[in-house]
Amino acid sequence: MLLDFIGLSLALAHFTVPLAYYAYIVKYYRRPWDIGLEPGYKPRVTVIVPTYNEARLIERRLDNIYSQDYPRDLLEVIVVDSASTDGTVEKVAEWCRRHPDIAVRIVREGERRGKGFALNNALKYCSGEIIVVTDADSEWVGRDCLSKAVSWFSNPTVGAVSCVKTPASSGLAGVEEGYRGFYNIMRVGESKAWSTPVFHGELAAYRRSLLEEIGGFPTDIGADDSYTATRIALMGYRAIIPGDIACLELVPSRGYHKWRIRRAQHLVQHFWKILRARHKAPKRFKTVLYAETYLHLFNPWILLAAAILLAASAATGSLLAILLLTLGLALLLFKPYRTWIATQLYLIAAAVRNLWTRELAWEKTLK
Ligand code: GDP
Ligand code: MN
Repeated sequence: MLLDFIGLSLALAHFTVPLAYYAYIVKYYRRPWDIGLEPGYKPRVTVIVPTYNEARLIERRLDNIYSQDYPRDLLEVIVVDSASTDGTVEKVAEWCRRHPDIAVRIVREGERRGKGFALNNALKYCSGEIIVVTDADSEWVGRDCLSKAVSWFSNPTVGAVSCVKTPASSGLAGVEEGYRGFYNIMRVGESKAWSTPVFHGELAAYRRSLLEEIGGFPTDIGADDSYTATRIALMGYRAIIPGDIACLELVPSRGYHKWRIRRAQHLVQHFWKILRARHKAPKRFKTVLYAETYLHLFNPWILLAAAILLAASAATGSLLAILLLTLGLALLLFKPYRTWIATQLYLIAAAVRNLWTRELAWEKTLK
């Protein structure tokens, strides 16, 4: 009976906190932006594409950047490659010969030391006032995607801008899609409240002066985008995801679980690392930062604890525990619930895996 009671309380706590937080954020999501923009703001922009064995996708990525309506004379692209063995660099060089009207620089590293390290290397060659990082396996939706992202920097309080995501293929049983709709609302709502602590590698733009102030990208954790954005938000600037900047992301057809766990590992690393600096959060950022930290680091374990207690109680014949567990399983028929549970399992697996590997130079997943 006591086990049932504690198990049920933990399960309720596990679902109540995120629901309450969701209700809190949706209020902001519905509000207008409190960030005014200056029309005509056109700074120099550097787009960095980090690559490791992206020969299959790199031309498509460059084509998509090339198709943007941002003034070419204000745009510079840097491809930073970490010793790819599949001919990525040759593909880029060939592409450049076919497109002499855009400035592209190739930075080659002799050894692969991770994405963050490569980005810092690229930073040395940047001339832009705004630095935009974009992954090779992504696509910006619309020709004005870059222009829209850059326009937010016309407000001096904005330090970093990212995109919402739509998966390009619907992934495993629609899990990826379900996951995105909900999280995109959260990211935009958090941005309107103050800032979001979760950024996306498909388009992550930063004011360069702030990047320099924080010493560039982290090299000891995987989530370079989210961590850098959060550091900027902690300095008192806005790190935002406006809802109208959309990017497609290729979702792997094979190795989906492994991919999700590795990415969850990076997020967990980011929230652990930022924990030390949490007291610096501006007042308007505190609730978001604390809630997301809690949801990523602690809340999944409460679900696990509840499941274990109820299972133990069910094993001793408690009808209530059996009923609750059956209900918990039956609800898996509903996609949002299923998506939520899957995410909790990825976060738990990620925290455990982080004990022995940080996955800073991860295996390429075929997309
Ligand atoms: P995911 O988006 O988290 O699944 O990670 P990806 O495998 O798509 O990697 C994100 C981007 O970083 C891609 O453009 C990769 O080619 C690039 N990347 C990954 N590892 C390295 C690295 O060690 N060096 C460089 N330069 N780029 C890397
Ligand atoms: Mn990717």
